[in-house]
Amino acid sequence: MGKLGHGSPADKEYGWTPHRRSLAALRSPYIPEMAAIIPKRDGSKAGRPNHHPDHVYLLVLAILGIHGSHRSAIAWLREDTNWYKVRSHARRFWDIELATTPPKRSTVTYNLDRLSPYADLLSDKFTLLAIEQAQKQGCLIEGPETMSKPKRGNILVADGTVPKTRITETTRKRLIEKGVKLPEVDEHREGGEDKGVRVLGFKELLVAVRPDAFPNSRIILSRTHVPKEKGYGGEAGIAVREMEKLRKLTKGFLGLRYDGAMTGMHLDAMLKLGVSAISPVPKDNIQRMLYDIDCTCGNQHTLHTEGGEFVELDVLDTGKTYSVPCKRVEQYSRKNADGTHRWYAKLLLMCGEHRTERLDTTAADKKLGFNRAHHVRLHPPESQYYKDTYGYRADIESVNNNLDSTLYRHRMITDTKGRQALVVLGFAMARNAISAEVYAARLKAGHFSDPPKELASAA
Ligand SMILES: [Zn+2]
Repeated sequence: MGKLGHGSPADKEYGWTPHRRSLAALRSPYIPEMAAIIPKRDGSKAGRPNHHPDHVYLLVLAILGIHGSHRSAIAWLREDTNWYKVRSHARRFWDIELATTPPKRSTVTYNLDRLSPYADLLSDKFTLLAIEQAQKQGCLIEGPETMSKPKRGNILVADGTVPKTRITETTRKRLIEKGVKLPEVDEHREGGEDKGVRVLGFKELLVAVRPDAFPNSRIILSRTHVPKEKGYGGEAGIAVREMEKLRKLTKGFLGLRYDGAMTGMHLDAMLKLGVSAISPVPKDNIQRMLYDIDCTCGNQHTLHTEGGEFVELDVLDTGKTYSVPCKRVEQYSRKNADGTHRWYAKLLLMCGEHRTERLDTTAADKKLGFNRAHHVRLHPPESQYYKDTYGYRADIESVNNNLDSTLYRHRMITDTKGRQALVVLGFAMARNAISAEVYAARLKAGHFSDPPKELASAA
C-alpha cells in the first residue's frame, strides 16, 4: 500500500497536512461557481433519489485530489467533525442546508459517473476561475500585446502526463481472457513516442503559472485530454490548440516553456499568436546554409543557422572555417491586420552593419522548404534569457509528479476517460485552493512591499 495524501515536498515542509488541505478545498470559491453550470437533473427520470447538491460531489473531487483514493476521501468526508464543518460552510457560503448524513461511497460513485459527461464543461469553467485567481495573485497581468522577454507571472508551463491505468497490464490481460469487459485504454510511451517506456493510460495535458518561486504558489490553469488517435497532432498539436484558447481568454499570457515536443511548426504558431515560446533545440541542429544577402556594406554575405542562431562563417589562419553567431541587437514583434504577429531580430553582422531578419516562418520560407521557427529561435539555448528562464518548465513536472504521487499506488483510481478527467480536475481544484491560501497569508504577512494595483485591490 502506498502512503495516502502525502502531497508535494512543499506540503510537508509547510505543514499542509491532508486534513488542512481538505479544509482549504472546502473553502474553494470554485465549488459553487462550478456547481452552478452543471445542467439540472431531471427529477422524473428513473434513478436514485438525490439527497446532496452537486457542490458536495465537486468537494469530493477536490478531496479525492488530496487523498488520492475514494475510500480515504469519503472517510474524511464522513468523519463527524468534518461533515459538521462542511455543513456550516454550505450554510454560510453556499446558502444550502445539507442533509445531516454525508453521502455513502455508492452514492458518490453513482454521482461521479453522472457528472463525468460534463468533465470538459467543468474544465472550461475551471480555467476561467483559475485565470481570475492567477490575476489576483499577480500573474497574467494584462499590459503589452506581446513581449520578447515577459516576466515569470506571464509565462505558462505545460506538459503531458499519462497516469497509469488502475489495473495493471497483467491483471488486465487475465481479466479479459476470463471474458470481463474493460474500458479501452490508450498506449503511450513516456519520454518520446518512439523510444520511451510503454505506459497504458489516458494522456492529460496540464498547464500552470506562478508569480515567483515562493513554495505552493503555483496555479493550475487547465487540463485537457490528449487523444491517441491520429489527426489531433499529438501532444504538441493539442498544446497549440490549448494555448490558442488560453490566449483568447487572457492577453496576459505572453510566454510559454515547453519540452522538445514543441518543434518548428508549433513554435511558429506560438509566435504568430504573440507568445514568446521556448523549447530546446535538438542536438542534431547542425550548421545549414540559409541564403546570401546583399549587405548595406556593399558586399554579399552568406547567412547560416546553427543551434537556433543566425551565424556567419569566418576563416581561421589555418584555413579552417568556424561559425560566429550574429549578435542580436533588438527583437520585436508587429501586429498584422488579422490579429496575428510577426517577429523580427535585428542582427549585428561581422562587417559591422545591421540586418533585420524574420523569426517566424514566412510564405517565402515555405516555398524554400525552410522551417525558420525551428532553426532560428527567438531565444536560442545559448542566450542568457533562455538560461535564466527555461528552468521554469520544471514547475509543470512538479505538478505532474505531484498528481502521480497523490494517487493511490501511483495509479489512476478510475477506469474511464471522463472519470479520469474529473479526478485530474479535482486535483487541480485542490492545488489552487492551497495556492489561494498561501497567497492570502503572504499578503497578510506583508510579503509584497510594492504590490501591483491588482494585488492591492484583491487584499
Ligand atoms: Zn556587410
